[in-house]
This record gives sequence, structure tokens and C-alpha cells, in this order.
Amino acid sequence: MSFSDQSKIRSMILTNLTRANEIGANSYLLDFGADGRVVLDAGMHPRSEGSGGLPQLERLRFDSVGTILVSHAHHDHTGALPLLMRDHPRARVFMSEATYFLAEPLLHNSVQVMLKQKAEKGIAEYPLFTHRELDQLVKVWQACGLEREWSLNGYPDPGNEPLTFRFHDAGHILGSVGTALTHRGRTIFYTGDVNFADQTLMRAAEFPREKIDVLITETTRGAQPKPEGFTREAVVERMALAMEETFAKGGAVLMPVFAMGKTQELLAQLHFLQKSRRLPQTPIYIGGLGRSFSEIYDRLAGRTRRKYPKLNLLDDIAPQVMDGRRTRDFTAKKGHIYLISSGMMTEHTLSNIFAQEFLAHDRHSIFFVGYCDPESPAGLLRATKPGDSVTLNAAYGAQPVRCRVEYFDFTAHAQREDLLRYILEVKPRVCVLVHGDPPALAWFQQELAVQAPGMKVVIPAPGEAIEL
Ligand SMILES: [Zn+2]
Ligand SMILES: [Zn+2]
Repeated sequence: MSFSDQSKIRSMILTNLTRANEIGANSYLLDFGADGRVVLDAGMHPRSEGSGGLPQLERLRFDSVGTILVSHAHHDHTGALPLLMRDHPRARVFMSEATYFLAEPLLHNSVQVMLKQKAEKGIAEYPLFTHRELDQLVKVWQACGLEREWSLNGYPDPGNEPLTFRFHDAGHILGSVGTALTHRGRTIFYTGDVNFADQTLMRAAEFPREKIDVLITETTRGAQPKPEGFTREAVVERMALAMEETFAKGGAVLMPVFAMGKTQELLAQLHFLQKSRRLPQTPIYIGGLGRSFSEIYDRLAGRTRRKYPKLNLLDDIAPQVMDGRRTRDFTAKKGHIYLISSGMMTEHTLSNIFAQEFLAHDRHSIFFVGYCDPESPAGLLRATKPGDSVTLNAAYGAQPVRCRVEYFDFTAHAQREDLLRYILEVKPRVCVLVHGDPPALAWFQQELAVQAPGMKVVIPAPGEAIEL
């Protein structure tokens, strides 16, 4: 076989299926020709509504994808999975064991949300998929163990396959993985969402550091420098102090959090602060969906790389569960902590509804602890100066911000400096930058141009196909 035939066999075309260079609906096609067509993730945009929130799945010919690999159960990576599966009925779907358990209730909740929005906003195309369809589709999913080679047929430890994959713990939320695809001796590695530092429950990522030819990496925090002397312990201490001050004024604390990941991390952290008497033993509230995911965290505690495998979130911490019926006559009580979704305070979610009460009183606090889209209600509130007004829900109009609003960086994403160090250590031939807003992408691009001049750095435009 001639050299040109060889390189043709080993070539791969990456198509960015997102609709914009941002943290939206993640999905990427890797086309290895006759060796396989693989889609990495199929997310839904956290803010856009209707089919505009989907990746560009229409670019994929019907029944043309053989393999779907899911990095983790967050909505921006799995929200469109049922639609991708509908278009590719023979595709096999692989994920980690924890993602297998977390993604199903997440998607059923997504159907609920779409049905509600259909009624409230008259979005005719909702729901984009149904509970019944989902029940059928999940039967195809296969959970695959980490740090083990898998064939595209779902067999472990395959022999001489041209294309195989392997999952590595990404340290972001329970079940999150980075995915290494080995194709005829070359390795393509997709980070998914990654964290290189320990959180309260999750341990830092364990990623491969050599022999990666093409690296596809998230860039979430590219525009946020790591503050001088940043430690997680210092953030915990600052939050505990701010909570004490709030309680001393007779106030309560609202923390808008994602139901999956952040809720469990914060529950554990607050539990340790209460146990060590750093905080009083006051009630902690979580939402119904947060409770469902906490149950899965508890069920898998002994089978994952989680810290404190014996800590049972629901039994040991015993958070109170807030359901929809309790929202009508809601008043925040002194010393109570509300870990309530959504993290971005999307309209009609509990955190948005509760915020009305918090905003109106200077004794209360709203604390943010993670990423939020700058244009989401949470993003707008974070950017509002005390005393200025903010519109969290069009129906209520602009409201003055009287409560204390603060941000505590309990990130589940790698600091940009840590991620850059990882890229430089791996030294891929090609580095593909995804999952970041334009300033975040630009920072990585500039740093790599200076620190790794030989590396080909690519920011694929939405819909763009690139031969690698
Ligand atoms: Zn994520
Ligand atoms: Zn993400």
C-alpha cells in the first residue's frame, strides 16, 4: 500500500455540529470513513427554545451514524440525544455507568419542562420527544467501564479493531469522562467537561498525558484568570463567613444551582461546615430533581471514584425537599439555605420564583457558585450593582436588588491555567478548541500560539468540517 493510501485510511474529518462558538448545544461528528462515523455528545442549549436549541443534526444523513459517545449527563451534552438516536436508529450509544443512571431522569425531566413550556408559551413543536419514546431509546444505551478498551460493537478488550474507544474520569460531575478514540495507531482525545482539581465529592480528572495526536478540549474558563492565591478552602471560608453574616441579620440564603453536580457538591460541603460547627445546624432545602440525582449519587457512592464513599447525602444530611406545591406561600426563614435549581435562574424555575422574595429584603442573600450564561437571568443578576434594578422574569418587570448578591467560585471546570498546562504537556499535533465563549477560545488560541508555536490550533466554525 502506498503512503497516500495509508494516510487516506488514517484520515478523519471533524464536523462541529454546534450552532455557535459558545457553551450551547454540544455535538461533534468524527468521520473515519469506512472505519466508522462517531458522534461525541448531543446537547441542548440551556437558553434557546424549540429546535433552535438543538445542534445541527440535520447535517447528518438519516441512519449514517454508527456510534454515539456521551461524555456526561449535563443537559448541554445529552439534551438532544433522543433526537440524534431517532435519526440514526442503528447507532450504538455508549457512556459511563453513572451517566447511564443520571441521563435517563434528566431527559424525562426535560420532557416535563417542554410540556410545561408548550402550555405556558405556546411552543407548538414541544415536546421534541416523549416519555414513551425515551423509554424505548434508553434500552439501546450501554454502560462501559473506565480505563478499558471497547470496540464500537460494545465488546471490551477487542483485538485488532481499526477503531476503539476508552473512557477516562474527567472529575467534573459523577460519571463525567474524557474519551480517547484510537484509530489505526493514532489517538484522538475529547476532554468533555473536565476539572483537574478535587471538588468536595469529585476527585480530579485522571487523563492520559501522552501519545495524543488530536486533542479536542473544552475552554469554559478561558476568559477567567485564576485569582492570585486561589484555593478552594479559602472560597469555602469566605462563603461560611458570608452565611454567618446573613444569618446574623435574620436572613436566609438562596443558592441557584444545577440539580445535578452542584447540588450534591454543596450539600456535602455545607454538611461538613455544620458538622464542624462552623455553621449552625439549620435546615438545607433542595429541589425534587436535586433529590433524584442525589439518590443516584448515593446509590453509586461505593462504585465510583467519589470521595467520602460512606457519606449518604440523603440519609446523613437529610435535606428537606421543596416541591412545587410549597412555592405559593413561600417565605424564606432565618438561617435556612435553599440549594435550588435552575442554576441559571431560568424563568419559571424555582430559583427564579424564590428570587422575588430574596431580592426585596436586605437581610437575605443570593449566592452563586458556578458557571452561568451571561445572558441568563442569573448572569444578569450577577452583573447588576447593589441598588440597581434587574429583570429576572418579564412578567414581574424590573426590580431593585436589595439583597446581598455574591459569587463563590466552586467551579466544576478546570482553571484555564491548569488546562493550558495539560495541553502543553500532551503536545498534540492538533488542538481543537470547543465549549467556550469567543473570549475564552481566543485566550487559549493566543497562549498556544506563543507557548506551542508548532501546534496546529483550530477553532471550528459552526457547521465546519475539518480534515485532521
Ligand atoms: Zn458539564
Ligand atoms: Zn458543558
